[in-house]
Amino acid sequence: MTDASRSQALPVVVLKSGRDKSVRARHPRLFAGAIKQIDGRPKDGSIVDVCTNSGEWLARGVINQQAQTAVRLLTWEQNEVVDESFWKHRVQQAIQRRQHDPLLKNTDAQRLIFSESDGLPGVIADNYAGHIVMQLSTLAALNARAALQDALIEVVSPRSIEEHADEERMRFEHVHASAPISALHGVAPAENVEIVENGLRFAVDLAKGQKTGFYLDQRENRARLARYCAGITVLNEFAYTASFGVVAATAGATRVVNVDSSAEALRVGELNARLLGPTETELQFVASDAFVDLRTRRAAGEQYDLVILDPPKFAHSPEQVERAARAYKDLNRIGLLLVRPGGLLATFSCSGVVDAALFQKVIFSAAVEARRDVQIVERFTQASDHPVLVTFPEAEYLKGLLCRIL
Ligand code: SAH
Repeated sequence: MTDASRSQALPVVVLKSGRDKSVRARHPRLFAGAIKQIDGRPKDGSIVDVCTNSGEWLARGVINQQAQTAVRLLTWEQNEVVDESFWKHRVQQAIQRRQHDPLLKNTDAQRLIFSESDGLPGVIADNYAGHIVMQLSTLAALNARAALQDALIEVVSPRSIEEHADEERMRFEHVHASAPISALHGVAPAENVEIVENGLRFAVDLAKGQKTGFYLDQRENRARLARYCAGITVLNEFAYTASFGVVAATAGATRVVNVDSSAEALRVGELNARLLGPTETELQFVASDAFVDLRTRRAAGEQYDLVILDPPKFAHSPEQVERAARAYKDLNRIGLLLVRPGGLLATFSCSGVVDAALFQKVIFSAAVEARRDVQIVERFTQASDHPVLVTFPEAEYLKGLLCRIL
């Protein structure tokens, strides 16, 4: 059977007339609203062809009629067959690209696969010193599990592969996880894994940590922020395992206060501080709600040379943007009031729906309310192993500003 005749046998999703723009623009998500009819009765999880109302072939993907994104588009090449070797090839390519990335040379912890940005919708794979944590959140990804796993074994020879359920994303896709954590290959570490990033050791709790264990997306920002840290005091809010705090200590900060609501994360943070070895830096770990902590410090008249605000996602959907913007503004108003005149605020948002322009407006409002002049001195984004495909700008989620507070 030739490729062409095989593809002809696939069920066909026919678009409403005039609704072909996003598919032609190679956007990897096709929403149910654009579909006129579906021929060939595909079961959810099947490979389908996508055609215009007049029968022109446009793309091929995996259908899931339970989900808002009815088709996850995988290829715009009519000859490309979506089979086991397709998935393997995509995994190989994603990993090869990272092997040639100069920004990833100084670490043994990287994101190997970043979903749509690597042509693998719903597939996340992070490598922690040979231990891979994979998250599969679309039906397309779940059905390809075995091929993805084989490809990772072939290309990386990992010590272990575990699948962690990303429940929020899975709910959104109407797919289910059999267990929160499933062992797929090898033996995952019982204890924390130790990774090295830019010469610094970090403990990562794969089993109980947040996301896949460590915020790899902040790698480059940690290095950039370190340059400001010699001889200064730092308040690191939403510290998680204190990665920014540890980097600041190495760079010569005199005192670093790490605040997070998760005592468990802070325990790993303390371990990270110990991995530093002897240090002059006074490192503190405070388990507290950051909003309460900031207000208490403000009331006590505390001042820091650098305040870091790296909160969790405030907005999960466009409807939540307005409320999230207010929350970011309130947080940043108090944060910047805790910076001594001439000091710095490093502030982040990982809400994809709050874009960089809106985030800057939020900081503007916070500055006006706090009656402080604020200069932007650097702009931050996600690390290069979390690239943004230009046809899928939604992949850009992390943004940050380094501000000088006058
Ligand atoms: N800066 C960290 C990542 C922060 S992720 C790093 O580079 O590793 C967001 C963190 O905010 C998580 O650790 C989470 O436990 C914490 N968090 C969530 N809500 C919080 C709250 N209300 N107060 C304090 N911490 C909170």
